[in-house]
Amino acid sequence: CFCQLSGKIDECTCNIDTVDHFNNVKIYPRLSSLLVKDYFRFYKVNLKRPCPFWSDDNSKCAMRYCHVESCREDEVPPGIKGDNGMARRNVDMNASEKYTREANEDCEAEMLYYLNKTISEEAQKELVKWDAYDDALDNFCDIDENDHEAEYVDLLLNPERYTGYAGPAAHKIWSAIYLENCFRPKRSLSFNPYIQSGKLSELCLEERVFYRVISGLHASINTHLCANYLLSNANGMSFTDPRGKWGPNLDEFQRRFSPENTNSEGPNWLRNLYFIYLVELRALAKVAPYLEEEEYYTGNDASDWDTQMAIKDLLNVIKQFPDHFDESTMFRNSEQAERLKYEFKQHFRNITRIMDCVGCEKCRLWGKLQTQGLGTALKILFSGKFDEMIQNRRLYAHNKKEFQLQRIEIVSLVNAFGRLSTSIYKLDDFRQMMR
Ligand code: FAD
Repeated sequence: CFCQLSGKIDECTCNIDTVDHFNNVKIYPRLSSLLVKDYFRFYKVNLKRPCPFWSDDNSKCAMRYCHVESCREDEVPPGIKGDNGMARRNVDMNASEKYTREANEDCEAEMLYYLNKTISEEAQKELVKWDAYDDALDNFCDIDENDHEAEYVDLLLNPERYTGYAGPAAHKIWSAIYLENCFRPKRSLSFNPYIQSGKLSELCLEERVFYRVISGLHASINTHLCANYLLSNANGMSFTDPRGKWGPNLDEFQRRFSPENTNSEGPNWLRNLYFIYLVELRALAKVAPYLEEEEYYTGNDASDWDTQMAIKDLLNVIKQFPDHFDESTMFRNSEQAERLKYEFKQHFRNITRIMDCVGCEKCRLWGKLQTQGLGTALKILFSGKFDEMIQNRRLYAHNKKEFQLQRIEIVSLVNAFGRLSTSIYKLDDFRQMMR
């Protein structure tokens, strides 16, 4: 079976079998129960932003299954609505007292407090602007939690699945991602946006990594739509029937990934799915000390406690994984490492902007969430801010603010990893079906 992959995962020392077992037995079940918790299921997103690259009204998706239902105001837990750090502290008195105590212990915080009281309002605004600017420099995507047009979406009510978004509009997005934003083999004069795996050796490590994460994401999205397909033909229902039955479609999976249909590339794309999984897994392991301390505040103590326990349990398992992706091999041994890192970041930012051009609303929602999650993983791995945290937990305790991730980053990172974990799990289902 072409999807019975084996051997080492490219650029890593880890075997496919190891990941399969680890994911399907340990990670997937834990993530499945974590991601239904309130903290993770409500995602704030602006789906109305215009495409910054081209105007193309034809790409709209008119099918009802593309539509995203956003939440009513009263459906979102109060702690989440007010949650951007400062606002949360105002909502919860206990939490506020705790933060004040911590600040008093920290002389740096005291100085800041003093400064804030004495400098003019204008200067304060300037400081906030520069803080935001510094943070933005580390980001691999544009994140604006205070975007007034953004709305909360309940991810559980809008699952990622087959929508029928296809043809030139979908191809335009994928080719823009590959052609305009991925590094190309220098000697390639071909205008085909999709790199043949055989040509990857012409790229340097960082460029290969970039290509593999994008291709892995693409493979994951396409695996989901095959695993969650509208089985209209099977039960005689029309495509738009609300009682539609959803389930795996093996023919669709074979069409998309078998070597015969994909010029032998399908299995390589699936291998890239394992690669991006390892990249995000490593980011989670690296940021684990931070995530273990988070409060996952929604305003409901019992549910927040459950979430804290569930994430600690997940992180404990992740930390035990034997063969993590080693990001320290990247952006070094080269005089141009800094330039390369800068380009890497810019290319990736463009990809997150391209998501505003996706015509199908549901694809746009999940495309945004997954690219944002991947962007957060890249920030954790390559911004340098999280490196010392792992080596020195005490240092982290003192500079907690330095490592602050926004709620939206945590939600997108864990959900994006959940999508990859589901893809690998579903791949096993397809293997069984083929047998
Ligand atoms: P595409 O998947 O459109 O691929 C185009 C070309 O890319 C292929 O011909 C092949 O040469 C190459 N290619 C394919 N896979 C890979 C890979 N893994 N690595 C490298 N190259 C590859 N559809 C849904 O039904 N539900 C969704 O939720 C959904 N979300 C989407 C999100 C985004 C951001 C985008 C851009 C599209 C989404 N789509 C979704 C559409 C879906 O991904 C396909 O584009 C669509 O089903 C058409 O598939 P296709 O067979 O024509 O090839």
